[in-house]
Amino acid sequence: MTAPLLEVDDLSVEYVTDARTVRAVDRVSFSIAEREVFGLAGESGCGKSTIANAILRLLRDPAVISGGSIRFAGTDVLALSADELREFRWRQVAMVFQSAMNSLNPVMTIGDQIADIFTTHERASKRNALERAAELLDLVGIPRDRLRSYPHQLSGGMRQRVVIAMATALRPPLLIMDEPTTALDVVVQQEIMAQIKDLQQELGFAILFITHDMSLMVELSDRMAVMYAGRFVETAAAQEIFVRPSHPYTRALMNAFPPMSGPRTRLNGLGEGVRFHDIPDLVAVGPGHWVAPTAGDAPLTEAIR
Ligand code: ADP
Ligand code: MG
Repeated sequence: MTAPLLEVDDLSVEYVTDARTVRAVDRVSFSIAEREVFGLAGESGCGKSTIANAILRLLRDPAVISGGSIRFAGTDVLALSADELREFRWRQVAMVFQSAMNSLNPVMTIGDQIADIFTTHERASKRNALERAAELLDLVGIPRDRLRSYPHQLSGGMRQRVVIAMATALRPPLLIMDEPTTALDVVVQQEIMAQIKDLQQELGFAILFITHDMSLMVELSDRMAVMYAGRFVETAAAQEIFVRPSHPYTRALMNAFPPMSGPRTRLNGLGEGVRFHDIPDLVAVGPGHWVAPTAGDAPLTEAIR
C-alpha cells in the first residue's frame, strides 16, 4: 500500500464570534488515494466548503482549526510557511470554487487570465503562456479564438469549462471541486460532468468532489462520505452507498434527488422533522463501509449483513 495522497485526520473547525462558537466541522477523518475521486455530500451549511478551505489553508477569521491534522503526500499542510503555501496551492492542490464561473475577472480576456497562471507560477514568457492557455482551451473543447473573449461573451457552461481547465493548468495531483455544476441547468450539468470525467481519465488527478446532489455524486465518485451538521454519518464506496445506504440521513438525501436517468419522481423533502444530535463515531458495518450508529436503530449492522 502506498501512502494516501491526502489524509485528513480528526479535523475540527470552529467559527468563533463574540456571540457564539459554531463547530462547522467536527472530528472528520478521510483519505484520498492518487487518482481517486472522493465525494463529499450533504445539504447546504453542513460544512463541506469549510473542509475544502481548511485543506487549502484558506480559512480566515473567524474560522479556527481547533483540532486534527491534514497531510498531503506525507507533508503537514498545517505547518506550511507562506512561501510553501504558494507552491502548494495550484501546483499540488487546485480548487474550483463554488460559483467559480462567476469569479472570472470581467475586464480581462480569457486568454490573459489563463496565461497569468503560467507567468505568475512558472515565470513563463507572455507568448509561451498564451500558447499554453490555448492548449488548455483545446483540452476542454473550446475554440482557441475564445482566448480573446471576455467572460460575459461566454455561456455559463463555457465559463465553467474555463475555470476547470485553469485548475488543471499546473497539473496538480489533487483537484477540489466545490459544487462545480450547481449553478448550471441539467443539460449543461451533464456536459460538465462528462468533461470532468474525461479530464480525470486523461490527466489522472484525484478529486475531492463536493455536491449536495447524490445522483451526481454516485456518478463520479469512487468512494464518498455523507456529512450532517459538521459530522460524517456514513462513508463507503459510492456504489455501496447507492445500493445499501445505511444511515437514515443518507437515505433521506438520496430520496431528495431523482436519478439523472429515468423519470423524474416526486422530490421528497429532507428529514420531515428528523434531526440527529450528538452523532457518534463511525463503526464498520461492512468492508470499507462505516456508519454512525443511530439510537433505536441498533439492528442496522445486522440488517446489511
Ligand atoms: P456547506 O459548504 O456545506 O454549505 P459551509 O462549510 O459553507 O457549508 O458552512 C458550514 C457552517 O459553518 C454553516 O452552517 C455556518 O454555521 C458556519 N459558517 C460558515 N461560514 C461562516 C462564517 N464566515 N462565520 C460564521 N459561521 C460560518
Ligand atoms: Mg459550500
